[in-house]
Amino acid sequence: MFDIQHIRNQFPILDQSVNGKPLVYLDNAATSQKPLAVLNAWQKYYTEINANVHRGIHTLSQLATEEMELSRRKIQKFINAEHDFEVIFTRGTTEGINLLAYSLTAWLKKDDEIIISYLEHHSNIVPWQMLCERTGAKLKVIPIDSDGILQIDFVEKNLSEKTRLISVNHVSNALGVVNPVEEIIALARKNSDALIVIDGAQAAPHFKIDVQQLDCDFYVFSGHKMYAPMGTGILYGKEKILRELPPFHGGGEMIATCSFDKTTYADLPFKFEAGTPNVGGNIALGAAADFIESIGHQHLQNHENALLEYAQQKLLELDGLRIYGEKATRTGVVSFNLEGIGIASDVGMILNKIGIAVRTGHHCTQPIMAFFEIAGTVRASFAVYNTFEEIDILVEGVRKAQRMLS
Ligand code: PMP
Repeated sequence: MFDIQHIRNQFPILDQSVNGKPLVYLDNAATSQKPLAVLNAWQKYYTEINANVHRGIHTLSQLATEEMELSRRKIQKFINAEHDFEVIFTRGTTEGINLLAYSLTAWLKKDDEIIISYLEHHSNIVPWQMLCERTGAKLKVIPIDSDGILQIDFVEKNLSEKTRLISVNHVSNALGVVNPVEEIIALARKNSDALIVIDGAQAAPHFKIDVQQLDCDFYVFSGHKMYAPMGTGILYGKEKILRELPPFHGGGEMIATCSFDKTTYADLPFKFEAGTPNVGGNIALGAAADFIESIGHQHLQNHENALLEYAQQKLLELDGLRIYGEKATRTGVVSFNLEGIGIASDVGMILNKIGIAVRTGHHCTQPIMAFFEIAGTVRASFAVYNTFEEIDILVEGVRKAQRMLS
């Protein structure tokens, strides 16, 4: 049974007033709130266990190691990876992509091609541009149509032996559009030996990820958007490729032997986890995966899709409101502007005065904003604890903003 009040009770932060009004938190695509199970896992680590992991002979160190490795196995199950050592703990999506862009330097040479899409977050653009600068490779960008839908015939037309890498997001953070990554992967497998990276930052909080079924080479996401602490995340990679890739950071934990003549690297996953990890955060990330699974992906998805549909329908009743990506399959996000009101942040400020938290601006996706010839949008984004009443409050707030600003 899906019991929204039971879920909300697990998020004490939601029970507060902002500017004298009950908080309506609709900025979940930027970061979600954390349930008690996650906060407790984090606190338990720091109050009962805190010790550095691996190489520890003493009890607390062994406990910390066991708990963190248990969490790795929870994430393995969460994304259906074949092996637990294919799950690398990172600080988040940005670090995962930068790790890959650095470690894949030798995979590319001058005039090779990397395909990304128009819908990418800056963190799935800039690291690849930096890789292109280092190697002389070129970026190619899958275009979108006026609904923000990827034109994937571009992939078919542009795949060649030069295509060495494809990196696209599973769900767009600016628009919420769910991209046809299965089709892109199938095309790529048929026509190239390109490596495939999926940025799942906005997918992991919303639906079941199955990396084996997807058949991607890499999958990255952040913990903090899926109810886990900030500074956590994972990079999944297929064993064979991870074994061949050189490490990203050098330091402690990532070596097998170290001498001044020659250093050899540790086995997976530690080769990619230099330095002291975020042990408490990584343990709490496992608790976040448990939390999502305790609700059930299907329940969570049904609720969030119903919220999105309701929000879209109610918002479109307002004159002159445009939703970007309106006709695309979307999850978790409604991104809009009001006709004649050029500055999205003006709307955001009025909403904040009545307790509603939304994000306004370019959402780290300036190319999408340039495509639509706008400076930014107002983005309301949903999590499992949001309610239909909150959508009504949002719509009333937007109506008020429209009255005040026009
Ligand atoms: N990709 C997407 C699609 C995102 O939504 C975000 C965060 N907004 C990122 C990458 C970067 O994530 P982080 O800042 O947690 O590293």
